[in-house]
Amino acid sequence: MQSHCLKHQEKVATARCGACSIPLCELCAQPYQDGVYCSDRCHQSVQEGQARMAKMAAEEEALRKRRQTQAAFKMIFYVVAFCLLFFGWDYLPEGFTGWVEGMWKSVTDAFAKGK
Ligand SMILES: [Zn+2]
Ligand SMILES: [Zn+2]
Repeated sequence: MQSHCLKHQEKVATARCGACSIPLCELCAQPYQDGVYCSDRCHQSVQEGQARMAKMAAEEEALRKRRQTQAAFKMIFYVVAFCLLFFGWDYLPEGFTGWVEGMWKSVTDAFAKGK
């Protein structure tokens, strides 16, 4: 079944609008760089939609990069914190190391008892 142009019922549609997909004859079809549309408005709405999509994609990309940077910073922080604890353990105040070591001992003791 062939569809006919909306404005010219006697003419067979040769194309469809890229935005609202109404059938268009060769008189109504308006060729643009990115396809055929029924009107400037339809073309513009598609262009705006594409611009919005591009903007959203760019924002998503920026967010992804920011998250990656944050993750990298977190990683560095943990590594540095670990190094500080590992190499600087003897230099930390006795009150702190003694408290942590006491906790650790009670945990290992509990496991030893459990077995
Ligand atoms: Zn249209
Ligand atoms: Zn027409």
